[in-house]
Amino acid sequence: MNTPWSYPDFDAHEALHFVTDAKSGLRAIIALHSTHLGPAAGGTRMWHYADDQDALTDALRLSRGMSYKNAMAGLPLGGGKAVVLADASRTKTPQMLAAFGCAIDRLGGNYVTAEDVGMSVADMMAIRERTKFVAGLPVAGGEVGGDPGPHTSLGVFLGIKAAVKRALGKDSLAGLHIALQGAGSVAGGVARLAAVEGARLSIADVDGARAQNLAAETDGTVVPVDAILALEADVFSPCALGAILTAETIAALKVPIVAGGANNQLATRADGERIAARGILYAPDYVINAGGIINVSTEYLDDGDASLVRQRIDAIPDRLETIWAEAAATGNNAAAVADAMAQKLIGRG
Ligand code: NAD
Repeated sequence: MNTPWSYPDFDAHEALHFVTDAKSGLRAIIALHSTHLGPAAGGTRMWHYADDQDALTDALRLSRGMSYKNAMAGLPLGGGKAVVLADASRTKTPQMLAAFGCAIDRLGGNYVTAEDVGMSVADMMAIRERTKFVAGLPVAGGEVGGDPGPHTSLGVFLGIKAAVKRALGKDSLAGLHIALQGAGSVAGGVARLAAVEGARLSIADVDGARAQNLAAETDGTVVPVDAILALEADVFSPCALGAILTAETIAALKVPIVAGGANNQLATRADGERIAARGILYAPDYVINAGGIINVSTEYLDDGDASLVRQRIDAIPDRLETIWAEAAATGNNAAAVADAMAQKLIGRG
């Protein structure tokens, strides 16, 4: 029998909740990796998975990533994540959201949710009807809250600039070529900020219209989805889904830098070493993409204003620098260095 404990990505999760609501058709997994630093916080992803095993693996990997992300961002939060197993047309009803909100509420604050792929601010408002353990809610002008996407984009943009400074010795993205995988919320924000600084963008998205619109807005070029990973550029920025860096794709990369917002970019831990062995500077995903959870955390814990959020996001490049410096000094790859730092912070070092 295959149980969750035997999954390669189980990694001593504190708890796994399998949610079923027959009336609404909701099926979801809420994974709590660690509450060592505080309530397990991480967004909800709604996705059509090929099978239940894929959904569980995704939940486990994302949840562990949130533990590491929150710890490395210095937040008083543990790590967790929820996935909603959608049908092929990703049907989402008010009844499903209500049942999901009730399921979160039953956990009594051990898990706090927010937006992730497939979930919107409006969905968070619907969930809020059933539980207070939710963030990413709309707020009046100037207050902290709302869609975490733009904050994630800002952190990724600052992280790309730090990587460009370290690997290419340049202070600006002007004239540099960025290959962007994805044209959604995070990618869109990165593209706009990079375009303002004069970067040249190549953009690929499985949703061709999205890619077209973003390219039109940023003076970029649309590239086929299967070509973006092997494009010759200064930066490859993965901002779509995870597990895209494999032995095969890493061998094909033609960039000196990989820095993007997608969660779980490395298919396996060995891929962190593969990137380093190719001499490519890698920004560990959960460090560079922490801007959104920094905003969510500040909203949820009500422990600061917009300028503090900005200060906390501005610290992302320094954190990356610390990781790269240790990687250079020890010969360990950047992903492994970041993992070791994060594990120590959550009491598992
Ligand atoms: P989104 O749904 O707005 O955008 C994702 C985009 O990726 C979509 O346009 C989709 O069509 C595209 N896509 C999917 N598969 C693709 C493929 N194989 N090739 C090219 N494009 C593909 O989601 P988002 O909020 O922008 O999140 C993007 C990534 O960043 C995810 O991995 C997410 O977990 C991560 N992330 C998001 C946030 C946030 O604040 N939104 C925070 C941290 C991490």
